[in-house]
Amino acid sequence: MRQILIYCLLSLPIMIMLGWFYFDKRKLKRKEARRAVLNAKPLAPEYLQILKTQYPLYSRLPEELQRKLVSHIQVFLDEKDIIGRGEFDVTDTVRVLIAAQACTLLLNRPGNYYPGFRTILVYPDTYVASSTQHDGLLQVTSTSTRAGESWHRGPIVLAWEHVLQGALDSRDGHNVVMHEFAHKLDEENAAMDGLPLLPTAEQYQQWSQVLSAEFAVQQRKLANGDDDVIDSYGATSPAEFFAVVTETFFEKPQQLQRHHPKLYEQFKQCYLLNPLEWRELNQS
Ligand SMILES: [Zn+2]
Repeated sequence: MRQILIYCLLSLPIMIMLGWFYFDKRKLKRKEARRAVLNAKPLAPEYLQILKTQYPLYSRLPEELQRKLVSHIQVFLDEKDIIGRGEFDVTDTVRVLIAAQACTLLLNRPGNYYPGFRTILVYPDTYVASSTQHDGLLQVTSTSTRAGESWHRGPIVLAWEHVLQGALDSRDGHNVVMHEFAHKLDEENAAMDGLPLLPTAEQYQQWSQVLSAEFAVQQRKLANGDDDVIDSYGATSPAEFFAVVTETFFEKPQQLQRHHPKLYEQFKQCYLLNPLEWRELNQS
């Protein structure tokens, strides 16, 4: 009797683990089935109209990528909560333009829809946020005006005026949605350090070599006050470098390829996309 009791007690953790494993597997299967249904669903005509009129990058995509973007948008909108701050009204335009810009990064990347967080908070325009830093016994709180931010394993915050501007002008090299969602890709492998998950194991070494060298160049340029197609904010940290170059890769691919060919190649392999091939790109 005692032996049976000991045996039961020892088996209990294993049974609980197996139960969790089974529960997780079923949950994942249900999620995949739901995604497959949403992926196959046609986009509502009014949503398509928003894409065509307010997100010019959509019209430049090859048809196959347009179809992919539309199918990703449906899953994204199902899995994320977009919430207005203050009096801000979250309309269909707000939902579609945030989803479209975020999902452009996912077009050919295998896998998930930005796992680990659900909420996107939207302010009507730039907002003031405070942050606290500790240095020994000293605690310093400062405030700054922001167009967006990504909390580690937490929500994304966006300023609508900048979201809209980013959608309407897909060639100025600035896109707050792509920037903040690049941070989310970056943190998929734990740390937000400028190293996202790459499609193959062989790519990591080259990525590290090229990105380290290019980041050092950007830091020197920032110190000397030299201009570059990559915004100087990218030189503030490896994480910001990845997010800023992501904006440049999608919005100024010709200039990025011309001035930083090795970097362009790494981003091409990271996103499995080549924006240089997309229609109507006549950048100087
Ligand atoms: Zn950033």
